[in-house]
Amino acid sequence: MAKVVLGVAVGVAVAACAVAALVVGRRVRTRRKWKRVVGVLKELEESCETTVGRLRQVVDAMAVEMHAGLASEGGSKLKMLLTFVDNLPSGSEKGTFYGLDLGGTNFRVLRVELGGQRSSFDRDVAQQAIPPRLMTGRSEDLFDFIASSLQHLVEKGNDSEQSPIIKELGFTFSFPVKQTSVSSGILIKWTKGFAITDMVGKEVAGVLQQTLARKGLNMQVAVLVNNTVGTLALGHYHDADTVAAVIIGTGTNACYWERTDAIIKCQGLLTTSGGMVVNMEWGNFWSSHMPRTSYDIELDAESPNPNDQGFEKMISGMYLGDIVRRVILRMSQESDVFGPVFSSLSVPFALGTPLMAAMHEDDSPELTKVARILKDDLKIPDLPLKARKLVVKVCDVVARRAARLAAAGIVGILKKIGRDGSGCIRVGRTRSDTKMRRTVVAIEGSLYTQYTMFREYLHEALHEILGEDIAQHVILKVTEDGSGTGAALLAASHSSKSVDNVQLL
Ligand code: ADP
Ligand code: MG
Repeated sequence: MAKVVLGVAVGVAVAACAVAALVVGRRVRTRRKWKRVVGVLKELEESCETTVGRLRQVVDAMAVEMHAGLASEGGSKLKMLLTFVDNLPSGSEKGTFYGLDLGGTNFRVLRVELGGQRSSFDRDVAQQAIPPRLMTGRSEDLFDFIASSLQHLVEKGNDSEQSPIIKELGFTFSFPVKQTSVSSGILIKWTKGFAITDMVGKEVAGVLQQTLARKGLNMQVAVLVNNTVGTLALGHYHDADTVAAVIIGTGTNACYWERTDAIIKCQGLLTTSGGMVVNMEWGNFWSSHMPRTSYDIELDAESPNPNDQGFEKMISGMYLGDIVRRVILRMSQESDVFGPVFSSLSVPFALGTPLMAAMHEDDSPELTKVARILKDDLKIPDLPLKARKLVVKVCDVVARRAARLAAAGIVGILKKIGRDGSGCIRVGRTRSDTKMRRTVVAIEGSLYTQYTMFREYLHEALHEILGEDIAQHVILKVTEDGSGTGAALLAASHSSKSVDNVQLL
């Protein structure tokens, strides 16, 4: 009997041990899996590191590449395109001018009434989606459509269509153009889903001009510009200390005011003002100092334009969400903390940057927004809170790197034009701020205006790189609709009624 009792007791103990071992084993395995997921995050953090020292190297690289791009055609990944815009609106412009903004899925036509003072500024805007069939059809159909919208706007205003006074138009055309004068340029290629083959190689403003004439519109294309130039123009109209413009939206680009004698690749370029706006096409900037991860490499390799637009792929709205998606996918492959690998996670661009921003900025204690987005948009249900926290951290790392690199890019421009304070006289141990001029950078794009964390990280980095003494003189000012309004303002400041100020000797 005693033997039987002992046997049962031993049996129970063995079973208890086995269960305990199973539980411990499962815990150890779970912990190990969790460790692997945390390892993915750690690795990401390390490879996205943007110490202030590193950012300063990016600043220097940007300034060096700007010099190289100005020295010779093809001398740098930065194209540093001449715009022939040799003066910027000052606020004293008068008259009625038109703007036309073509560069994406929507296009806008607008009219501005300028009263000679900044405050006397009035505008009327009409926006329309471009019917997809016109994006791939014949140029005649697209331009007919655009001209009709302009005609409609003219008819709506007091400005008589039959008025003998020629109306002047600023045309923002945000596709790669080889500019030949302030009001003409040749289309190099279409992007963003446009494919009107009979337009490539043609003079863009000329095609519009012919259409306007055909429609009987007494209107002249006074300027043909890129959207960043419009942003700079609008910024300068409101604040004369504006020297550069940056757009961080779907893509990213910047332009700035340069002295003509610094544009070495165009010898003999003379303007009355002594300067000209240069369109950097900075989305294509690249420096080995930029912190690059395996996710960036994969994203680039799978993109339709590998080895192109390297800066843009780390910074802009088109890509940030997709970098985050790639990291989460990797985490889910490393362990089943995220459950089985969800096929929706493998779909390129399944996570847009606005959703990434919404997860990043979810301040609810249970991260309910994160849970909802993961469930609804990526089909990952029931992720535990600690895993949701990890997702937020991934968004933070990716957005922070992007914002800090953008800040370094901006300081690179300031350095190139001597506005980064490095030329300031030092008094004792601190820099004298009496020599530092107020410097304004016009900025546009939803990433900056809508994504608060991005904006805050950008500002923080700007202060870290420049130091407080200098940073207090650098102001980022948001402009709204520079690409439309700015173009109309440039039509005013480059009006044919004034003399042609650009000469090529
Ligand atoms: P575009 O550059 O096309 O002229 P925007 O400046 O509005 O237009 O930028 C659009 C880009 O900004 C999109 O790629 C989108 O992913 C991103 N975006 C829009 N809203 C937000 C937001 N709230 N947070 C983060 N990114 C956003
Ligand atoms: Mg835009």
